[in-house]
Amino acid sequence: MEITGSGIADQHSPGTTCGRPSDPRPFSTGRTQFAPAVDIDGASWGAGLAAAEEARTLPQPPCLAGHCEESGGQRGNPYPPPERVPPSFSCRLCPRGCGAERDENRGTGFCGAPSVARAARAALHLWEEPCLSGTKGSGAVFFTGCSLGCVYCQNRDISRDGGAGLPLSPDKLRRIFLRLIAQGAHNINLVTPLHHTEGILPALSEPLGVPVAINTGGYDSVETIRRWEGKAQIWLPDMKYSLPGPAARYSRAPDYPEVAKAAIKEMFNRVGPCRLGEDGLLKSGVLIRHLVLPENLENSYGVLEWIADTFRPGEVLVSLMSQYVPPLERADLPEELRRRLKPIEYKLVLRRAEKLGITQGYRQDFSSASEEFLPAFDGSGIDDAQ
Ligand code: SF4
Repeated sequence: MEITGSGIADQHSPGTTCGRPSDPRPFSTGRTQFAPAVDIDGASWGAGLAAAEEARTLPQPPCLAGHCEESGGQRGNPYPPPERVPPSFSCRLCPRGCGAERDENRGTGFCGAPSVARAARAALHLWEEPCLSGTKGSGAVFFTGCSLGCVYCQNRDISRDGGAGLPLSPDKLRRIFLRLIAQGAHNINLVTPLHHTEGILPALSEPLGVPVAINTGGYDSVETIRRWEGKAQIWLPDMKYSLPGPAARYSRAPDYPEVAKAAIKEMFNRVGPCRLGEDGLLKSGVLIRHLVLPENLENSYGVLEWIADTFRPGEVLVSLMSQYVPPLERADLPEELRRRLKPIEYKLVLRRAEKLGITQGYRQDFSSASEEFLPAFDGSGIDDAQ
């Protein structure tokens, strides 16, 4: 098989990162070991450079969100940013809309999160995509709890327990952000933060001086996304499912495909096409991640087709991940997920992306499929934030 011409640009090839030079070394991540500048089958992947250049110069698309119509389609935040965390509230922050009462000590909703933000780790992270990790790292803060319930979650030690980690006031959180920046972080990378929106936004009342990236599972509410207007410059959503069957079976969210499509469109409305600096780092935009699962090729194809139908080449970056590791200790893990991804499965998904003209993004080495890359959720960088 030969793969040439346009395709997912290998971000490690010089001159392919949205048209910016990138470091050609292989990068590894906690979840991810990204590929060096070679492609499957030894053929060269197209850079999609022209498309990326075009995308960069495109005018901002009109805001598709209804609330902006009154202001002539201009982007704007209809919600005043909160100055403090409400001590308790009835929560409808995520699409589950469970209405749970959350207070400082307790959360009874699906996500299990109390009203105060909690996190289990804050550290420089060198294992994201190169446009995020750069040379010094992404300043990652891992929040606990999650509104999805993925049976294969790699962060399950903290995602299934909203009470895990340590409570962080907005002042403490801001100190953590500033310390990461002082350590060299190219950006502040909030991992699974949206169910903690009330607790985090007050910490972002003033700009940090580096981009803020929101790293989510994609099962997000449009209303909550809008509340981050002006606070988040980069969105890093997963697009896990195009089919309701696997979404229900693996993540207890049959409405995931429609919810995630609306959410990702809204993220794009907020920040526009991807924009990289001269240093090759992402300054703003949307990077969509998709983890390819065993025995689920149709699901992956549907994700890629939606991306190709929805965005022009280069408007968003796409990261196709092969790092699935089956958590075999889980008795409820479906049979088809009890093995790793086969190289041929990943190759077929890459080939489909190529055919669909998805021209900008990342792929992974198979060596990244290891739990060795998991960061320690031991309170590092959190417990001493006085
Ligand atoms: S964020 Fe948590 S408490 Fe709020 S609606 Fe979602 S699952 Fe329920």
